Amino acid sequence: MKIKVAIIGGGAAGMMAAIVAARNGAEVCIYEKSNRLGKKILATGNGRCNYTNVNTSVNDYHGNNLSFIEEVINSFDINSTLDFFEGLGIYPRIEENGKVYPYSLQASSVLDNLRYELSRYNIKEITEHKVKSLRKNKAGFDIITDNGIFSTDKVIISTGGKAGLQYGCTGDGYELAKGLGHKIIRQFPALVQLKLDADYLKKISGVKFDGAASCFSDSDLIRREDGEILFTDYGISGPPILQISREAINLIYDKKKAYVIVDMFPEFNKNELFEILSKRFAKQKDKTLEESFNGLINKKLIPVILSLANIKIDDKLAGAQDKCNKLNKKNIYSIINVLKEWKIEVVGHNDWQQAQTTAGGVCVDEIDSKTMESKKEKGLYFAGEVLDVDGDCGGFNLQWAWSSGYLAGYSASASV
Ligand SMILES: Cc1cc2nc3c(=O)[nH]c(=O)nc-3n(C[C@H](O)[C@H](O)[C@H](O)COP(=O)(O)OP(=O)(O)OC[C@H]3O[C@@H](n4cnc5c(N)ncnc54)[C@H](O)[C@@H]3O)c2cc1C
Repeated sequence: MKIKVAIIGGGAAGMMAAIVAARNGAEVCIYEKSNRLGKKILATGNGRCNYTNVNTSVNDYHGNNLSFIEEVINSFDINSTLDFFEGLGIYPRIEENGKVYPYSLQASSVLDNLRYELSRYNIKEITEHKVKSLRKNKAGFDIITDNGIFSTDKVIISTGGKAGLQYGCTGDGYELAKGLGHKIIRQFPALVQLKLDADYLKKISGVKFDGAASCFSDSDLIRREDGEILFTDYGISGPPILQISREAINLIYDKKKAYVIVDMFPEFNKNELFEILSKRFAKQKDKTLEESFNGLINKKLIPVILSLANIKIDDKLAGAQDKCNKLNKKNIYSIINVLKEWKIEVVGHNDWQQAQTTAGGVCVDEIDSKTMESKKEKGLYFAGEVLDVDGDCGGFNLQWAWSSGYLAGYSASASV
């Protein structure tokens, strides 16, 4: 008799687990609450699906137990992932910082090929069935859905976290796990835009530039990232902001102050920038400050930066219409301090709908890293974002889904 494996949640981790379990001889059924499997995959990587990263290491992940994460990603590593997807038909395209996309640059090709494999192995997809609870029975588990009760030998919970609510992720897996005795770690959104406390945001909304953003707690640097930064009417966005958002939000949830410090000129130190600005002002003596900064920074930023620099010309706060030849060395350094260390308090974040991943989740200390089986309930397994594991931007979250999904699918289908 074939082992019956039920997979709760047909996202990335669930589909990987299903394919592996079916290839290993199990009878596999996926229970999915929405009307289709893998909806979120279509949105990944801006529709291109950054499905892994050739530079993946444990340093790209967060959670309360990093050695657990390391063991899992080493068990089904990048080469295994690339081989698995090439086997499905996905030829890799490696882009900047080791990010891997399907050569077609279409997320739909990843989903199509996964679904093709599900049907090749006759994996049952039971959609529009929300699993409400799991109950231990003599042989395995009862799966209680809003559309009937089913039974199975083994269960894999792969319901995702709370990020991307619009793709069906509402944190149901935490309740399912809790119901079977598991500890859940506090969740908060990660890889998400930050809300800032500043009255000038509407004036500079839409301004983009390449720079560096750091997350600071009072005076301690927590993390710095480079890349395109975008001011919005509520705060700040862009890849470096998403990367540092986890650290900033964690501080706020711990009731500590969090700041973003923006460096608009990361390639120059303050003295080099002083040289550049003083030469510029000397050459353009007759121009106003607004005119002389034009071509160096976005025009919308000039009045805001001058106001933050808080310098005085002729006993008045300097404005965009003052002549640049009136600035002294101290004034120029005050402007440079803003250009290189623009400090703004973080007061919040966008909601789960905008977040790309979930920090926190099912505590991994109660799970076996070799098999993904619960240490509390035999026959129960976990995979994917539902666990207390989250990765940075760059393909690491999907890699976690593949690695943990592979292990869970393989072990759940192994005969006892
Ligand atoms: C916009 C966006 C872009 C992203 N881009 C990338 C990227 O390029 N690279 C990367 O590595 N990561 C990316 N991520 C993160 C990545 O998509 C997720 O970490 C990954 O999909 C998690 O996989 P999962 O299978 O654990 O959960 P999910 O993919 O979230 O799947 C969970 C599934 O479970 C179902 N479900 C939930 N509750 C129940 C229930 N009670 N009963 C039945 N079914 C249920 C859900 O409907 C869903 O289909 C992105 C995320 C978002 C939101």
